[in-house]
Amino acid sequence: MKLHPSATAAIVSFAHAGLTRLGIILGLLCMMNHGVLARAEDHSNPRVIRHSDVVFMYDNADLYETYGCTVLGWAGTRSAERIALAHQRGVRLFAVSVGFRTEFARMIDFTPDFLQAACRNYTGETFIVPWLWDHKHKGQPAWWFCTNHPLYRQYLMKRLEETIASGADALHIDDYTGTASAVTWLDACFCSACMEGFRAYLKTKLSAEWQKELGITDLDSFDYRQFLMNRGITPEQYHKERPRLPLAAEFLDFQVKAATDFVAEYRRKGEELKGGPLPLAVNSGLTGPMSLAITPHVSYFCCEVHHAAESRKVPFHPIYVYKLADGLNRPVTSTASGGDWAYIMENNLPGLVRTWAALSYAFGHNLMAPHRQWCYTQKKGTHWYSGPTEEYAPLYRFVREHADVLDDFEGVGRIAVLYDNHSQRLGKGNIERITTSLADANWPFKVLVQGDDWLPGYTVNPKTLGQFDKLIVPEDLEPSPDVQALLDHAKSQGKLVPWSAGDNLALLGHNPVQVSCPGAVFVVPRVKATGEHPAMAIHLVNRQYDGEKDRMIPLTNVSLTIDDSLLPEPADGCRSAKLHSFGKEDVIVAIKLEAKRLTVTIPEIDLWTIVELRWR
Ligand SMILES: [Zn+2]
Repeated sequence: MKLHPSATAAIVSFAHAGLTRLGIILGLLCMMNHGVLARAEDHSNPRVIRHSDVVFMYDNADLYETYGCTVLGWAGTRSAERIALAHQRGVRLFAVSVGFRTEFARMIDFTPDFLQAACRNYTGETFIVPWLWDHKHKGQPAWWFCTNHPLYRQYLMKRLEETIASGADALHIDDYTGTASAVTWLDACFCSACMEGFRAYLKTKLSAEWQKELGITDLDSFDYRQFLMNRGITPEQYHKERPRLPLAAEFLDFQVKAATDFVAEYRRKGEELKGGPLPLAVNSGLTGPMSLAITPHVSYFCCEVHHAAESRKVPFHPIYVYKLADGLNRPVTSTASGGDWAYIMENNLPGLVRTWAALSYAFGHNLMAPHRQWCYTQKKGTHWYSGPTEEYAPLYRFVREHADVLDDFEGVGRIAVLYDNHSQRLGKGNIERITTSLADANWPFKVLVQGDDWLPGYTVNPKTLGQFDKLIVPEDLEPSPDVQALLDHAKSQGKLVPWSAGDNLALLGHNPVQVSCPGAVFVVPRVKATGEHPAMAIHLVNRQYDGEKDRMIPLTNVSLTIDDSLLPEPADGCRSAKLHSFGKEDVIVAIKLEAKRLTVTIPEIDLWTIVELRWR
């Protein structure tokens, strides 16, 4: 049986939802008791997704021009003809996806020895991908194949060759964590390839004393499963007590790094075959250290982000994801969750979806065009929402028509929030509460990312700190000695703000953004970072959404004041202020100057207005 493309997509999304939950659990369970591997990575990233790109998740050549599609972000058709057609119709970047866990039928066709490459649990048995329980091919179920096994890697390399041969501009990998995500809940993987890999890992890791302590006499013949069985660990015990068993943290660390290294190798091989750069996207929701480990190797995230549709409010969670992604220097082409789309479909709320799209572009990212969306509920299972073109295409056309005030404009802010991967792996240091408070109060801020051996290449140092007035840290942070030194430095300069449970905004001083209707609108100032002409684009996204009528309640005569500290040049040199509003003609408005600040008044904000300020 060949999976129908729509069926594959459903599995893909469901798999992702499961992975998201798993990522959180893994993040909490993993303890940092292993040494740091020196893997110097550079987290610079040539931007392949532009702020004004209109991104499709699924291919539909008939809608490219209607929406102004410029990027096929995920599941482009693996066909030279379709890719040529897409290019003709204005698609700049066309990604084709390989599924590391959903392509069991093709693997079964690939070799009669397919079972040799299946994952093995602690009992030594093969097992299926749990959410593909209802799929069969040639009488075989959807086996979970091991991404560490040479035979499965051969298959995946063949798929890579086919993808490159189709002329794809970019590669998307779904379920890129492969075997690593079966460690904590499916008691895997103990196949021969994993045992061999873990042996090699331990040889670089275990000191002679540690080895002696564990009673390992010969690493060359070491078998982790046998080692645990010799200690009398039963499968039931393994399932219940895994995190506390000897070498459990090392085994998870090995699996996570094996998955990351394989994806890196896969991309390199793709670039060799292509003879040039191959941008890579993965389905990872930025939900914790496990899902962030791949960051140094990806060009952009193409993923599901929870939008809390049932709240019928403009959501905060996507703002956390977008700001963290900025800190990681990676664009996010997002979609909402299967549950969100099911709610939108059932209640017919295109107006709410438009707020999600405006929010994503205001924060510099790209909610994918909702022309086809996977929906999922416990009761209905998988179903599909075909977003009505007339409800959505005009907003995406607005984006395309305003590329000149979107592209190259980056977020500004003199307040920094610290994301510390070390703390996150200990289940501490969550910053979402902080980003929500700041966004609610329209405090412009940036997220600084401190990595570790799972997230190499991200270091916050005193020089970085020099660009900020304050450094906010969660009160329960578990800093490593390096981070503690940074915090001490910040404290000595009067910049450190530990964020407690109470009202912390007063600790930040005067907000350089003032608006006459706080709480009713999100204000996002962005500055053109390149080129000769300084410019600013301040996004105002209306939060007054009427959930009963699925429409915006317009805001009138909104006064917006920005301090000099955020402007690219002094306020008194600003020459023009132009309003770009979705659904309205552009308007020039007067600029009022006071001491070191600038004020404009926006007559009406319906969904989304961009205030364009120019100095020349
Ligand atoms: Zn394995």
